[in-house]
Amino acid sequence: MNVHDSEKVAGVLLARGYAPAPTLAEADLLLYNTCSIREKAAQKVFSRLGEFRQAAPGRTIGVLGCLAQQEGEEIFERAPWVSLVCGSASYRRLPDLVAQVEAGGRRVTGLDLDTEDTFETEITRRDNPIRAYLTIIEGCDYACSYCVVPHTRGPERSRASASVLAEARRLAQAGYTEIQLLGQTVNSYRDPSPAGLDFPSLLRAVAATQGIRRVRFTTSHPNDFSREIVAAIDDTPALCDHIHLPVQSGSPRILQAMRRTYTREDYLERISWIRAARRPISVTTDLIVGFPGETDEDFADTLSLLEAVRFDGVFAFTYSPRPNTTAASLPGAIPEEEKARRLAALLEHQRQIQTVRHQSLVGATLEVLVDAHRPARRQWSGRSTSNRIVNFTSPLENLLGEYVQVSIMRAGPNSLIGEQAI
Ligand code: SF4
Repeated sequence: MNVHDSEKVAGVLLARGYAPAPTLAEADLLLYNTCSIREKAAQKVFSRLGEFRQAAPGRTIGVLGCLAQQEGEEIFERAPWVSLVCGSASYRRLPDLVAQVEAGGRRVTGLDLDTEDTFETEITRRDNPIRAYLTIIEGCDYACSYCVVPHTRGPERSRASASVLAEARRLAQAGYTEIQLLGQTVNSYRDPSPAGLDFPSLLRAVAATQGIRRVRFTTSHPNDFSREIVAAIDDTPALCDHIHLPVQSGSPRILQAMRRTYTREDYLERISWIRAARRPISVTTDLIVGFPGETDEDFADTLSLLEAVRFDGVFAFTYSPRPNTTAASLPGAIPEEEKARRLAALLEHQRQIQTVRHQSLVGATLEVLVDAHRPARRQWSGRSTSNRIVNFTSPLENLLGEYVQVSIMRAGPNSLIGEQAI
């Protein structure tokens, strides 16, 4: 979402006549989009702001994104050379805020979270020529005890279905064939317009857009995950057969402490719906290890969940306490070395599962949307509809953006290797 926010901010400014500067030193205005989901990312911001000041002295510098929202005017105290601080819920006001700074304003802020607005733009500068991101819902109404997002992105706001579908059509006309629908809890989508589409209906409608061959969506919340989503994927070839469904922990006790609003059993029930689909659907997840109070038994529950589900991919992180979250004041902090040990054990366990799952695809032929070329290795790379990375050789040229059939010859834990089937 942050990457796409940067694209939208760039689009808004291009529409006002701004142009991208070739180098930092040549820029008159520097807008720095930030993330605060983990402590390390937040710490980096202030050292980067110092670097910007040295590389482009006297220039106008603005800080955007979640750290801007979280730290607010405190940023001016720690980095007095910053003129603008704006959170993502206020980006619609960004051109006016930039105009205030250009008119000589100092310490200009856009930090309002009390908004019904979604950040939509007529012109978005898309940096990825293969896959187009499309925001359908912003903010979050959940209150997971470790998470800053409700504090930095505001309450949940869905975008009218007509607006989503119009943007999908524009993307198809611009030549995109793959769209990724975005939202912090994308499947909580509720159409605010009289059309009243629910999320599965919106999926079907976007997938029916002429010229669109692949539709993905991220991130789903297990609480809002329904059989109808699986049915939509089953019925609609253009909906990719991949679901990212963050579980965060396999321990019932830790799930409760995280305030995730579902149980381990609820999660496994949703997995059983996915496994019962006619199309094989790959499942990936997010996990946090070392949450306060996590015992060896709790961690063993997470490992047993890996076995029970056999995910196709896992994004795992050590717990990082964040300001304004209830988990930050929970007792039972886990030492960093122990967190790192658990993370390494989890990743090794998952590596073995992924290796076996990938091995089962050797001999198969997969359709790949090509998104990279590595001439030095004489290799092309892309994603299957199940979101697996496929590296392959081909006697043909100019494959970027093309859909090709690839025969899978070998498999590693993180990717498949093959050659174009001609
Ligand atoms: S649902 Fe996701 S974004 Fe919302 S509070 Fe929980 S972790 Fe954060």
